[in-house]
Amino acid sequence: MSERMNRMIEQAEQELLHTYNRFPIVFDRGEGMSLYDVDGKRYLDFFSGIGVFALGHGNRELNDALKGQIDKLLHTSNYFYNEPAIEAAGRLKAASGMDRVFFTNSGAEAVEGALKAARKYAYLRDGHAGHEIIAMEHSFHGRTMGSLSVTGKKAYRDPFEPLIGGVRFAVMNDLESVESRITDKTCAIIMETVQGEGGIHPATREFLTSIRRICDERDILLILDEIQCGMGRTGSMYAFQRYGILPDILTSAKAMGCGVPVGAFLLRGKAAEHSLVAGDHGTTYGGNPFACTAVAKVLELYEKLNLVDHVNEVGPYLTDKLEDLAGTRSDITDHRGFGLMQGLEFDHPVGEILNRALDNGLVLINAGPNVLRFLPPLVASREDVDEMMRILERSLG
Ligand SMILES: *Cc1c(COP(=O)(O)O)cnc(C)c1O
Repeated sequence: MSERMNRMIEQAEQELLHTYNRFPIVFDRGEGMSLYDVDGKRYLDFFSGIGVFALGHGNRELNDALKGQIDKLLHTSNYFYNEPAIEAAGRLKAASGMDRVFFTNSGAEAVEGALKAARKYAYLRDGHAGHEIIAMEHSFHGRTMGSLSVTGKKAYRDPFEPLIGGVRFAVMNDLESVESRITDKTCAIIMETVQGEGGIHPATREFLTSIRRICDERDILLILDEIQCGMGRTGSMYAFQRYGILPDILTSAKAMGCGVPVGAFLLRGKAAEHSLVAGDHGTTYGGNPFACTAVAKVLELYEKLNLVDHVNEVGPYLTDKLEDLAGTRSDITDHRGFGLMQGLEFDHPVGEILNRALDNGLVLINAGPNVLRFLPPLVASREDVDEMMRILERSLG
């Protein structure tokens, strides 16, 4: 590492609140599948900034659209309409099959809105507050007080109790554990269609379709958090589309802005018609013309590039390669996920592998201590997968 990069890191450690144990790299620029640090070293990016850069780094059309909007209009507030938000909402509805869109600035904020909408729906129906929410163990929904309340990792929650009340945790893919936590006060079940931070755990078809049926029978709203697994990552625009069901409320973020901070929660049917109304919820920046230019252009480019079809070509290729690797190593205990959202579980922590991969020019991340997570830009090619596998094999030790 150069003296210059070292100084930058020391300075950062003096100035930034230490809420992350960061890898000792200062990135400077990106191009397609590649990242370059301030010393000019190249890295193959198989992380895409936590599944954000679906289009790869520096997509020309996206950048030009953003630059054009900067010179035109950056912000108006939600007291007025703006054209990019109208276009983005229309494209998002078409991509998801949902009815109404509320734009946020982040994923956690989308989860906050989803929880409020569910509480309001039950409040309008029953005429009183005090409704409960069922969430899953090992889930991740964000770091704000509300989203943390439904995040299934006790260590994240404990220092901040009391969080919002009435949350019960069930076991993902265990229908009985969900059923036993339902009461006449339950207003929503929130889950990731494919758990990301918790270690790449997809919902089983039986579990998710049964949850959908129970929610219909008992007038409980199903909230699917697809902030990580949505936007084409699993080989359909939203992962729930693989299961043939629809949520009542959907959260989306990460790849939706491909680097511009933006999220959304989307409502369908009765949840759209009987929940949040004027005065119930708001945001200053949410849905501003700049962020929505990103969303509209990203969705346009998904279509133009046939990105979801592409994921369905490269995803199975990655699956084959990871299965082959798992077959040769006794320390790999499981391989999960599909599309370009996959994980390899080891019988030991993977921190050292990540460090060696970085030394060798590959950006990978973990999902929990023992799971290597593969979240490349969705434009990744077979050749990129081959290069990744070569570096990974060298880094395993
Ligand atoms: C990242 C993530 C969030 C939180 O999004 P932020 O933009 O970091 O607030 C919520 N849910 C899931 C599934 C995520 O992966």
